Order: sequence, then C-alpha cells, then structure tokens
Amino acid sequence: MRHVVILGSTGSIGTQALEVIDSRRDQFDVVGLTAGGSQLDLLAAQVREFAPRLVAVPTEADAAALRALLPGTTTEIVGEGGNERAARMPADVVLNAITGAAGLLATLATMEQGTTLALANKESLVIGGRLVTDAAAPGQLVAVDSEHSAFAQALRAGRAKEVRRLILTASGGPFRGRTRAELADVTPEQALAHPTWTMGRVITINSATLINKGLELIEAALLYGVDLDDVTVVVHPSSDVHSMVEYVDGATIAQASPPDMKLPIALGLTWPDRVPDAASGYDWSVPRTWSFEPLDDEAFPAVELARTAGKAAGTAPAVYNAANEVCVDAFCAGDIGFLDITDTVEAVVMEHLSGEHVADADLTVEAVLAADAWARARATEIVARVAP
Ligand code: NAD
Ligand code: MG
Repeated sequence: MRHVVILGSTGSIGTQALEVIDSRRDQFDVVGLTAGGSQLDLLAAQVREFAPRLVAVPTEADAAALRALLPGTTTEIVGEGGNERAARMPADVVLNAITGAAGLLATLATMEQGTTLALANKESLVIGGRLVTDAAAPGQLVAVDSEHSAFAQALRAGRAKEVRRLILTASGGPFRGRTRAELADVTPEQALAHPTWTMGRVITINSATLINKGLELIEAALLYGVDLDDVTVVVHPSSDVHSMVEYVDGATIAQASPPDMKLPIALGLTWPDRVPDAASGYDWSVPRTWSFEPLDDEAFPAVELARTAGKAAGTAPAVYNAANEVCVDAFCAGDIGFLDITDTVEAVVMEHLSGEHVADADLTVEAVLAADAWARARATEIVARVAP
C-alpha cells in the first residue's frame, strides 16, 4: 500500500492522479489533499470519496467554507500553511500538482521531510534551483512532467557518463509554423486550444508561447545534472515521442506512448515500478508518421531566454517564471497581446541580470521569494504601460 499526498488535487494533474488511484484502491491510500479555493465543491467531493486524514486550502476563510460543505467529517480541515503541513505528513510519496511559484514551500518541505516527491509543479524546481536539488536525497525527486519522465525512462538504458545530450521534444503549440508578425493578434481562446494536451490554463498558455519548454529546459538540467547546452529542443507536433537521450556512441533512446498524462503520473507515484494498464500503447495495424523539425527561435524566443536565465541561475529563473505568471493573467484578461508576454518576461529578466541578481552560491529561499515579488511588481508596471 502506497500512502499518497496530493497537492493541487482539483487540477488537471490532480484529478487524473485520483483517477489512477481510484481504480487501484488496494494499492494506494490517499492521506492528504490540498487545493486552491476556487473549486471547493470538487475538493469536498474528493474528501468524501477518498477520506484523507487531512485536507488543506489556502486561507482560513476557505477552510470555514469547506467545513460547511463537509458536516461531520473526520478529515482535519486546515487553512494557511496547509500545503506544507500536508507535505510533512507521513507518506510514501507527495505529488506536487500545484500551478506556479505557489508550490515552492511545499516542495522544500517535502525535501526536508525526506519523502519522495513526484513533481508536476516544475516551477518550484526551476525557481528553487539548487535549494531543491541540494536538499534532495538520491532518487527523492521523481519527474511527472511527461518529457522528464521520458528522460528518466531513457536514462535507464545507459550510464550517466555515457550521456551526450538530452533531446527535449516540444509539440510547438497551437501556433507552430507562424512567424513573429503572425503572432501579434492571436487571442487567448486560440492560445488555449492546445493541439495534443488538455491541461490547466497557465501551462496551456505557456505551451503556446514556448515558456513551458523554457521552464522544462531548466527543469531537465536540474533534474539530471546536465549542462544547459547539452539539452536540445526539437519540435515534434504529435507529442508521441516524449523526449530522448542521446548517448556518446550516437545511439538515441526515445520514450513514446500516445499522449496521456496518466502514464507519467502513475509512474511518478510508484517509480521505479510500472503500473500495469496505466495507459494504452499503440495500434500498429494502422499507418502512422512521426515528424520532427527545429524550433523557430525568432518567433518563439522563450526557450533561448530560459537558457540565458538558467545559465545565470541564482534568482534569474524565479524572475523568468514570476514575470510570466503576471503576463499570462494579463493576456487572458485581454490587457496585453500575445507577443507582449515573452517581450515583457525578457525585459524583466534582462533588467534583473543587470541589477539585483543574486548568484547561485548565495541563493536562499528569502532571495527567491524577494526576486519573485520584485519580478511580479516590475512586470505589472510594464503590463500597465502596454495595456490599452
Ligand atoms: P491546474 O490549474 O489544472 O491545477 C492546479 C491545481 O493547483 C488546482 O487544484 C488548484 O486549486 C491548485 N492550487 C492553486 N493554488 C494553490 C495553492 N496556493 N495551494 C494549493 N493548491 C493550489 O494545473 P495543471 O495543469 O494540473 O498543472 C499543475 C502543475 O503540473 C503545473 O506546474 C504544470 O506545469 C504541471 N504539469 C501539468 C501537465 C498537464 O497535463 N496538466 C503536464 C505536465 C506538467
Ligand atoms: Mg511537459
């Protein structure tokens, strides 16, 4: 029996994780759930269904509202600080499926507690950087992101010293093939229509700008200890090959499966063991073609900007992420255009690097949180100037 804590249980990843668990109740026991305050009805239904020992929401007001939905429950309901409380519960694995920088403290609490972390919330690793990797025991950090799960699987084919480079695949998003000029007028509705994956709002917009691939580039380097220049991004529209590892002799090992997050979620919950029937494989009796193309860095500069921020390390990745979170909200609210997202992130990152940047050697949680707050404020100012 694996005792599981799910942070962000009402989201795309969280609900799919509970579906994986639901059909295998003899193998998994849900001990803790947490979520934001926007879907308390769903969270209450999850509590009734899975009867965790603890459920947490961001504020005391959310907790009071959740209590009202769960009269007579034996589950402890907590407000502020609840993600960290849940992350410190005795458990075999904590799945962090929160969106954005809000997941950082829970990731660090899980590391400190020594529990295996199944990480979907890439932002916490990217912004925490070596604070997270230094705190992780060997094998404690397990990737849920499909590309990084693919790396973990492909890395089983050889030794660390035999790896030449990681090949990170990208679907290219809904605007693949467009020039920069052709991106100027795209709408939030168009950006939210991802060709291969159904996901939360932020990661879907990030997939359209390729900011998601930028975050994943830094995530890959941190998770597998490779140089940022040894991670190559390639566009693969159908999202069948989830990523690849190239070895020193020229062999490339790819992991492929029909796009379905249940496979990496299940593997993340039980790594290194596979969950039978977590997802389906291919029907090879029908013809199928997989294609690959280079990324157009001129139309989508977010990946190379992430490489710059990742190489600078320290507080730069936190600034990249926080400025983007502000821009995603502004774009979805109709306040800025699509190109303004990456342009603003670039302006804020460059300003940070020429000023208050804290280097990797001096990085602290306080410095990360301060850089995050500074970047949000700075991006908000720039966005206000751009807004109509
Ligand atoms: P989502 O928006 O659907 O869900 C986010 C969840 O986090 C929700 O349950 C929300 O209530 C919760 N949340 C927000 N703020 C919170 C807070 N302060 N405390 C506790 N919970 C909070 O997002 P998603 O698509 O499920 O993505 C979650 C994470 O997984 C992101 O980091 C994303 O990049 C990553 N990821 C998602 C996918 C996917 O297919 N959806 C794939 C790979 C990686
Ligand atoms: Mg991914």
